Amino acid sequence: MSVSATPGIDPVVVAPEARTDLVEYCRRRYTHCTVVSDERTWEVSGKVIAEALESAGVRVGTVLLSGDEVVADERFLTNGFVQASIDTDAFIAAGSGTITDITRFISHRMRRAFISAPTAASVDGYTSKGSPLVVRGVKKSIYSHAPEALFADSNVLRDAPHELTAAGFGDIIGKITSIADWRLGRLVWEEPYDEAIAERTLETVRQSVETRHGIGRGEEAGILTLMNALIESGLCMLDFGASRPASGAEHHISHFWEMQLLRYGKPGILHGAKVGVATVMVCRLYERVRSLDAAEVKRHLESTTPATFEEECSVIHSAYGALAGDVIEAHRPLLGLAGDVLDGIRERIVANWESIRTLADEVPSAETVRGYLRDAGAPTEPSEIGLSPELAQQGLLSGHFLRDRFTVAKLVRVLGLNPG
Ligand SMILES: [Zn+2]
Repeated sequence: MSVSATPGIDPVVVAPEARTDLVEYCRRRYTHCTVVSDERTWEVSGKVIAEALESAGVRVGTVLLSGDEVVADERFLTNGFVQASIDTDAFIAAGSGTITDITRFISHRMRRAFISAPTAASVDGYTSKGSPLVVRGVKKSIYSHAPEALFADSNVLRDAPHELTAAGFGDIIGKITSIADWRLGRLVWEEPYDEAIAERTLETVRQSVETRHGIGRGEEAGILTLMNALIESGLCMLDFGASRPASGAEHHISHFWEMQLLRYGKPGILHGAKVGVATVMVCRLYERVRSLDAAEVKRHLESTTPATFEEECSVIHSAYGALAGDVIEAHRPLLGLAGDVLDGIRERIVANWESIRTLADEVPSAETVRGYLRDAGAPTEPSEIGLSPELAQQGLLSGHFLRDRFTVAKLVRVLGLNPG
């Protein structure tokens, strides 16, 4: 069991019967609460919370998002707003990542309290501030707010489908490359960086990796360790004020896949499952990076002609179709790198090559990371999550256009290496 208070989120409770604490928390503060859930999480958690609140004398509203697949997009957000009562004081997200993101956004825009009641150790976004939403088909992180309190019932987490827990492990494994990318971005693109937060984030990976066999066997202790790691990773984003610590090339690839599946009306894949698989691919890029010495890097830079703005826009058009305009707009600072900007990046790559190699050395091999994922019962290859080799490869080539961050996917492009 763990109960803690963090600035802004107080309390954070991960314990058996945490729902009792949730009800008591709400009873003391609010006269009307709205429970947000989907059909599955209503059955395993939302209903129990709603009934307990009513018994405690709190008026209760519900937002039930139904359908085969709930997506945090305009359609489900509108559906949520339509069901939300204007009289409510607080929204309780009784669900996993998507329900939480929808609730976070609705409660923020209605200026109501937001309480998180996670039903699975599946993502690290419970305690963060941004809402990852799909807007006009493009995955974006929209500013909203963190929950004021979090109550995760460990019995509910333990009984969640294993694929959700395995996805949570994949999301944590992604921090291996997101932190390496962050360190790279700091050296090459002068991105704001915080070493203490990077270390805290890596600690969540160490703890989860240590307990991966227990997670794979669905043991309560392993799942609680993972849940606490996911919460801590979210708090790192909150403390830094952006998702940078927790999201690098592996997340951009995952977002790219998600957008393509939506675009073609294909069933979605759990966020953390995609992130875990993408992390293995990004670890392979780091293997390439650390194999190069400074002389080879100079040779690559001298013999590479960078893509022009027009060439990159044409790549984006073929990868993103109708979504290209929004992607180009969001990615403008890093498109068609040329002149002083490119010279500056190249100079920093050469000047910092030993540091870049050192941070690449700290990234485990792709084979090691595959082993971690397998031990936790998580997918390791694109084919295991139903992705074609072409789509998997496209993620590696075009995912990095989604954010104006410098990652290892950018580095291999600047060096003129083939990422495949
Ligand atoms: Zn994630």
